[in-house]
Amino acid sequence: MTTQQTAVVSVDHLNKVYESRERRVEAIGDLHFDVRPGDFTCIVGPSGAGKTTLLKCLSGLLAPTRGMVRVNGRQVIAPPEEMAVVFQEYGRSLFPWKTVRENVELPLRERKIPKTERDQLVQRALDAVGLGGVGTSYPWQLSGGMQQRVAIARAVAYQPKVMVLDEPFAAVDAQTRADLEDLMLRLWSELGLTMIFVTHDIDEAVYLGQRVLVLSSSPTRVLDDVVIDLPGPRTQAHTRIEPRFAQLRTRVYDGIHRAKAAH
Ligand code: ADP
Ligand code: MG
Repeated sequence: MTTQQTAVVSVDHLNKVYESRERRVEAIGDLHFDVRPGDFTCIVGPSGAGKTTLLKCLSGLLAPTRGMVRVNGRQVIAPPEEMAVVFQEYGRSLFPWKTVRENVELPLRERKIPKTERDQLVQRALDAVGLGGVGTSYPWQLSGGMQQRVAIARAVAYQPKVMVLDEPFAAVDAQTRADLEDLMLRLWSELGLTMIFVTHDIDEAVYLGQRVLVLSSSPTRVLDDVVIDLPGPRTQAHTRIEPRFAQLRTRVYDGIHRAKAAH
């Protein structure tokens, strides 16, 4: 297929079964989609739909049962170099005994990037997420929203081509969430990243995405693939009250509703 050449991430008939002695869960039935470079793709689906499972397969943390994921044409069998992942539980993803700066620096150390370059990348990433002044603080001294910014800064410093996020704002208050959403849009446009953003929040998906994939309950498949043709730049105050926003929101909502009803 020609799409494989242009896709940065290609999910090829992915299937994932969790099997233990007691039970067998087919988390992902058959997922098949491509993500083009520079796209902002949101993935929504009911709780338990297999969204986290999908992201673990994308990021090489979990081996598929059948099918495969390709990043830039190469089969994913380990965490791809060009991908950074931000998980929901920022509390658990940051090391409390390391400063903000040290947390952001960690993946760069692992990649053996020289100190001067490391310092530059860390400072630029902290500035980009509005945390330029708190590098010497510890994560536990910061609010939840700021901690999630640290996790995002760590991903940015790594200079990924693809950023994958798993319900990253589920645990922060509404105002912080709105700010973080706008931060994502800004990073996406400034850094030219390919974003794959999982959320269970329909409004968030429509606000952020250029495309929303609606997943069914497990065994998961793609129920709907919605092009979000809202004009940019998007703003919290204006985009969310556009009639087109409401239409798209309804379409995604109906998809999720069908997914739940079918379960
Ligand atoms: P989501 O992120 O959409 O809420 P998950 O990917 O976490 O969904 O889970 C999908 C299904 O797989 C659920 O039924 C869940 O209970 C099951 N599951 C997830 N992880 C495991 C695991 N490690 N072992 C067994 N079952 C699992
Ligand atoms: Mg999940």
